Amino acid sequence: CGIVAYVGHREACPLVIKGLKRLEYRGYDSAGVALMNGHGLKIYKKKGKVAALEHELDGKETHATIGMGHTRWATHGEPNDVNAHPHYSFHRKLAIIHNGIIENYAAIKQALLKKGHTFSSDTDTEVLGQFIEDIWEHQAGASNAGTLEDAVRLALQEVVGAYAIVIMNEADPTQLIAARKGSPLVIGVGENEFFLASDATPIVEYTKDVIYLNDYEIAVIKDGTLKVVTLDNTTTTPYVHKIELEL
Ligand code: GLU
Repeated sequence: CGIVAYVGHREACPLVIKGLKRLEYRGYDSAGVALMNGHGLKIYKKKGKVAALEHELDGKETHATIGMGHTRWATHGEPNDVNAHPHYSFHRKLAIIHNGIIENYAAIKQALLKKGHTFSSDTDTEVLGQFIEDIWEHQAGASNAGTLEDAVRLALQEVVGAYAIVIMNEADPTQLIAARKGSPLVIGVGENEFFLASDATPIVEYTKDVIYLNDYEIAVIKDGTLKVVTLDNTTTTPYVHKIELEL
């Protein structure tokens, strides 16, 4: 139900955890983070409060300059550690967090099962992650010209439902890809750093410059730059708002 992500020069983990706490008012049943620092991607997730996740993180290696966190309000699959986000897909080493509902997930899951995919959770979110991965491997990647961005765009063209998503790829520790339809997503633009969140409250203490992503838009943050494209692959120029928000 809540999303926070960060890429830049700060320590991502404490920033993401603090942001998740600011979003706790939205309600949730479990929480998780994905963290990356050039030595691979780590995922920690836990049923219960963000405090339980913090307890889980105690003594773990959490150094990261890129990371994302999620508080889940279960719609598909009971609230437990496995169904908590982020979800990881092994072939292309993607981690995904998602707010919302993928209404046609069952049909997509059926098609992926036939292709030999296996699933560890009961969520619609894991299906979307593997769908993106499958397109990246087999369609977008067929000519070697396909990128993760292309795969996300092609996958979302097929998706029915509501979503705000953020994706990390273990092969690129500078990249966050986000998209939305129906569920809110705000981008904070700092100096050589970017923030993503379900609303501006986790962002305002770091930057007042925010972009409200529109429905059917994909934000690609890579190597310190931001690009926004629509689902039909038109690059748009996002409007940067100056926010005044009392905390
Ligand atoms: N539909 C997803 C799930 O059940 C996401 C729920 C949410 O918005 O937190 O895992």
